[in-house]
Amino acid sequence: MNDEIHATQRPKVIWFNALFLFGTPLLAAIVLPWHIWAHGVQWSEPVAFFALWWLTGLGITAGYHRMFSHRAWWAPRPVRWIALVLGAAAWQNSAISWCASHRYHHKDVDTEEDPYAITKGFWHAHMLWVIIEGARHDDIQNVPDLRKDALCVWQHRHYNLIAGSFNFGVPLVLGLLTDNVLGMLLWAGLLRVVVVHHATFFINSLAHMWGKRTWNDSHSARDNAFVALLTLGEGYHNFHHTFPSDYRNGIRWYHFDPTKWLIWSLSRVGLAYDLRRSTIDRRLRKRWEFLCARYQEQVGTFSDSLREQFDDAERRLEAAISDVRERRREWGQKAEEMQVKASRDYERACRDAERRLLAEFREVQRLLRTPRMEDA
Ligand SMILES: [Zn+2]
Ligand SMILES: [Zn+2]
Repeated sequence: MNDEIHATQRPKVIWFNALFLFGTPLLAAIVLPWHIWAHGVQWSEPVAFFALWWLTGLGITAGYHRMFSHRAWWAPRPVRWIALVLGAAAWQNSAISWCASHRYHHKDVDTEEDPYAITKGFWHAHMLWVIIEGARHDDIQNVPDLRKDALCVWQHRHYNLIAGSFNFGVPLVLGLLTDNVLGMLLWAGLLRVVVVHHATFFINSLAHMWGKRTWNDSHSARDNAFVALLTLGEGYHNFHHTFPSDYRNGIRWYHFDPTKWLIWSLSRVGLAYDLRRSTIDRRLRKRWEFLCARYQEQVGTFSDSLREQFDDAERRLEAAISDVRERRREWGQKAEEMQVKASRDYERACRDAERRLLAEFREVQRLLRTPRMEDA
């Protein structure tokens, strides 16, 4: 019923958002070159720009996204407060509203119900969804946890005040300190807000179009190292949509994911806890199912002997997965019952089982890759 009503209505433009999202880049494009032409560039301007880009950007990626939307980690009150202030400073709505849209995006990705569906085109997913009122505009029913969280409610209520005072106040103070108020307002205020906006928007547009589908191809999200560079690590988006409650997006140590490094570092000094990671058995099973689906045609061309080898490897992989789960269950049980030292043996057994699983996985992968050579 609701859908029918929305389908027949003309799209409603949210003029404030339109003015903001078109006005800020336009203003930056006109005033900043003039300012550089008239006053040159002082080193403190790009430094303040980058520092506030990273701070407010991490407020979105580590705070709004990985903590509040996905509960991939949690933090003591002061850290949550800082995340909410920095997130508000990125000028992308309150955490409650942001996370509501984002949870709908994950739940209904690529469908009509996805607030920033890439199926409606690059510009819709990038920024037009903010300007054209969607069916789920202002719908915050899916974040009951955040609506009960006193800090989130405080931020939601005073969002405009927090965002406004940060975005004018901090560059103003920096400007007074460096005797360069206009320069700081332009670099650390205006330009930074525009850059953080579009860096975040790229996750909804570029990261759903450009890159590899490493883990799953049932959704449009892609893994792309270049997009990760622009988005403080959020470019490994295929992994993220496949394992959304993992606090990491770039899973390898060399993947550029400063958001993951920040959360991990905070956890080392007690400022972050409950870091959630997808387990190796879940990841490898997912990857293996994905590879099998991709190689289905080749599997059909296997000779009988190769088919047997493959079935056997598949069985061993399944056994290795069960083994990992069993070891992990034992480890958890013993760690509770016994002192820490005793549980180390179980930890080691668990790691050994994981290594065996990885070896079995490589074997299945090898078989999937070389059917024709073996046939010949
Ligand atoms: Zn996405
Ligand atoms: Zn997400």
